[in-house]
Amino acid sequence: MKYKYIILGAGPAGLTLANVLKQNNENNFLLLEKESECGGLCRSKVIDDAYLDIGGGHFLDADNVEVCDFLFNFMHEDEWNKFDRISKIELDSEYINHPIEANIWQLSQKLQIEYLKSIAIAGCNLNKPKPEKFVEWIYWKLGEKIANDYMIPYNQKMFGEELNDLGTYWLEKLPNVSFDETLLSCLNKKAYGKEPGHTRFYYPKEYGYGEIWNRMGENIANNLLLNKKVTKLNILDKSIVTDDEKYEFESIISTIPWISFEEIIGAPDSIVDSIKKLKISSTIIEYINQNIDTNAHWIYYPSLTKKYHRILLRKNFLPNSKGYWTETNKNRFDYNTNNFYYENEYTYPLNTIEKPIIMNNLLNYMKKYNVYGLGRWGEHIHYNSDKVVKLAMDLGKKLLK
Ligand SMILES: Cc1cc2nc3c(=O)[nH]c(=O)nc-3n(C[C@H](O)[C@H](O)[C@H](O)COP(=O)(O)OP(=O)(O)OC[C@H]3O[C@@H](n4cnc5c(N)ncnc54)[C@H](O)[C@@H]3O)c2cc1C
Repeated sequence: MKYKYIILGAGPAGLTLANVLKQNNENNFLLLEKESECGGLCRSKVIDDAYLDIGGGHFLDADNVEVCDFLFNFMHEDEWNKFDRISKIELDSEYINHPIEANIWQLSQKLQIEYLKSIAIAGCNLNKPKPEKFVEWIYWKLGEKIANDYMIPYNQKMFGEELNDLGTYWLEKLPNVSFDETLLSCLNKKAYGKEPGHTRFYYPKEYGYGEIWNRMGENIANNLLLNKKVTKLNILDKSIVTDDEKYEFESIISTIPWISFEEIIGAPDSIVDSIKKLKISSTIIEYINQNIDTNAHWIYYPSLTKKYHRILLRKNFLPNSKGYWTETNKNRFDYNTNNFYYENEYTYPLNTIEKPIIMNNLLNYMKKYNVYGLGRWGEHIHYNSDKVVKLAMDLGKKLLK
């Protein structure tokens, strides 16, 4: 069983690449997926008569037009609702819009003064050098009060103890609001500064976010094998092994976590050992059959009194649904529940300080053997789905040249 291309993992990255190959009349490929269905972290299940995204809250960034146009080939634009994002943060029992720096004006005057003072004397506004650790960067960027009330506890809840290992090279993902913009927003009572991701987003009208990936899987069904967990990669004889088969390839595109291979044969110890240093976090999604009176699509909860860090109010983005679901770091989750919950072992590839060097060496080494890392896990970067679709579209074009 030899294939020109073997793709590992039928999440958005693997499915996009497979469909790009097929669209270009390249049928000599095989897509292997360990689960019984496609979609990866973007899957949905029907819970309490409506769809719930079992990998967390998932929205399609409407500003990524090229990717939306590609995806609408599989699920027409008419099948999606378009929203302007409403996301809130609970702070000291008050709710304000995200991001905090642009919306301090929504708080009581007492908190506004405290938070403005916090930013005014933060390191970045006193010309202190930018730190290399994320935790120190939070204090440097937003000052003690905002760090202690919001950013530190929120990120601790989300990332757990690994928070102290995170670097700062990935921070373009976070909102960037200058102190001047924060002041302007308080004076004019409206948000200023760079908009956060998903400011405008699509969500399916009648399904969960998982539907689009199911359809992409159906489109390449003849080249797809489900329930096939890949365990070993041999870069010397160009083969991979699942629980019950061995497959040979000319090129392999892996979208699965590098740390999930039981064995990688043919790579030097330095590469194999460095993979063990890559870190991840795990998240549990729990469904709560209650309605909360808010128009928010989702709410962030920094308070340590709540186990979860975010809730998703599906009634506000999925018609005819009720209830909400929570996202909780696995280490904080209370398993003593009768509610539906779903455990995602691989949720966030963590941006540890040493990660860029590990990944750079790993991917450059593997490329020499026509082994490519693609997507959230292939590159170990917490990309959103639109970004991995774009990367897979680009890689597909490159491979087909
Ligand atoms: C809480 C949360 C919220 C998010 N919100 C958004 C959002 O609002 N919008 C957005 O665009 N993105 C969002 N994302 C990001 C989105 O989930 C990812 O960008 C996307 O799923 C990445 O696709 P992927 O194919 O790279 O990886 P995955 O979706 O993780 O797919 C990898 C696939 O590989 C399979 N696999 C793993 N190991 C093996 C193995 N050994 N053998 C065979 N198969 C294997 C898995 O089962 C999976 O199907 C969110 C992510 C999280 C965790």
